[in-house]
Amino acid sequence: MARVVVVGGGYAGLMAAFRAAREKRAEVTLVDPKPVFVQRIRLHERLAGGRPETIPYPRLLARARVRFVQGRADELDIARQEVGVGGERLGYDQLVLALGSRTAPAVPGVSEHALTLDLAEGDADPLAEAARRWPALAARGGRALVVGGGLSGLETASELAERWPGLRVTLLTRAPLGEGDYRPGAVRYLRRRFEELGVAVESGVAVRAMEAGSAVLADGSRRGFHVAIWAGGMQPSPLPRQWGLPIDGDGRVRVEPTLQVAGHPGLWVAGDAAAAPAPGGVARLSCQAALPMGAHVGDQLARLARGASPRPFRFGFTLSCVSLGRRAGLAHLLNADDSPAATYFTGRWGAFVKEAVCRMTTTVLKLEARGVRAYHWKPATPAAPALAEAA
Ligand SMILES: Cc1cc2nc3c(=O)[nH]c(=O)nc-3n(C[C@H](O)[C@H](O)[C@H](O)COP(=O)(O)OP(=O)(O)OC[C@H]3O[C@@H](n4cnc5c(N)ncnc54)[C@H](O)[C@@H]3O)c2cc1C
Repeated sequence: MARVVVVGGGYAGLMAAFRAAREKRAEVTLVDPKPVFVQRIRLHERLAGGRPETIPYPRLLARARVRFVQGRADELDIARQEVGVGGERLGYDQLVLALGSRTAPAVPGVSEHALTLDLAEGDADPLAEAARRWPALAARGGRALVVGGGLSGLETASELAERWPGLRVTLLTRAPLGEGDYRPGAVRYLRRRFEELGVAVESGVAVRAMEAGSAVLADGSRRGFHVAIWAGGMQPSPLPRQWGLPIDGDGRVRVEPTLQVAGHPGLWVAGDAAAAPAPGGVARLSCQAALPMGAHVGDQLARLARGASPRPFRFGFTLSCVSLGRRAGLAHLLNADDSPAATYFTGRWGAFVKEAVCRMTTTVLKLEARGVRAYHWKPATPAAPALAEAA
């Protein structure tokens, strides 16, 4: 029996574990510090006071015959093929690192004075705790400040404004809202939606530091808040760097086209932790890339167990979905290289597509746990944009 250990039970890790476990000659173990799978793509809903579904790992994994170890991996001994989890050592023949990413605390004071949209360890649920403050704050016109104009910043500001109309929500962004990520018509729609929700958007501002009750901008001015949410970008897990694995400039593990680490055929990386090849370069940190990477790694482990050799990972982007509260959204088709395509859906249609995609992720994971190959993705090759340009 090949011993497969998957470290990290997010989108990539679960998918890798389920696909690897389809091969009866593999004994699969998944390690995660949390007792439950939490939908990271819905953390802004959780922060605003919603209750998106969570799934206890033992229940989800038992269906797939995957053993669950609750704990945090803190050591890697590649020579002995062992992972340390809180003092215990797990031996492996194949190891999948699916450690994900967290919010980058890019300026001083973020950890002390702002909330971040991150998965908690153990039983703690800081976002649900923070959500208990909204009713009282909204009743007295309190201020929520969201920093960051990326997807999670947009989703958080709009979710709060729609759910708590009494709250005064401000969104600070470095670049003009949505520009570069979406077609001009979609950008105009975003602006209209934020106006409709009463969110004050200040673009072109850089925050220098977070302090108690205020954000300090680069020009020295301040923006006050009762609650601040820092959504200023994500960074991959620092563990692979500490373990001496090859890392790219963004802190992600350099991988071969198969998603193995060069020189270590028993070591695989998937999801936000991996600098995986994609058309136009490296796949951006996203659930959209993490799910197929996990499925790919799991499939290759099953192939290896059958004596076949691993294949390269092929992936292209298809869709970018932003929720703008529960009642509206933007669903923007993408070219394989992540650039915006011509078609997009706004308003209720955008919300409908976004919700369908979020539901699809959990439905697919539950089906894959039962052995159904429910997940499929667009297998574009990294060379696709160059060919398109040449044509
Ligand atoms: C609010 C929000 C909305 C988002 N919306 C979208 C979206 O619409 N579309 C999209 O594509 N992406 C979205 N993302 C990004 C997406 O959530 C991530 O890119 C995705 O979760 C990456 O998946 P992953 O499996 O690599 O890592 P994660 O989902 O981060 O999972 C990593 C897992 O590893 C575990 N772990 C970490 N360290 C250890 C350790 N030392 N030992 C054991 N386990 C460990 C964690 O507990 C976690 O369960 C959103 C992110 C946020 C915050």
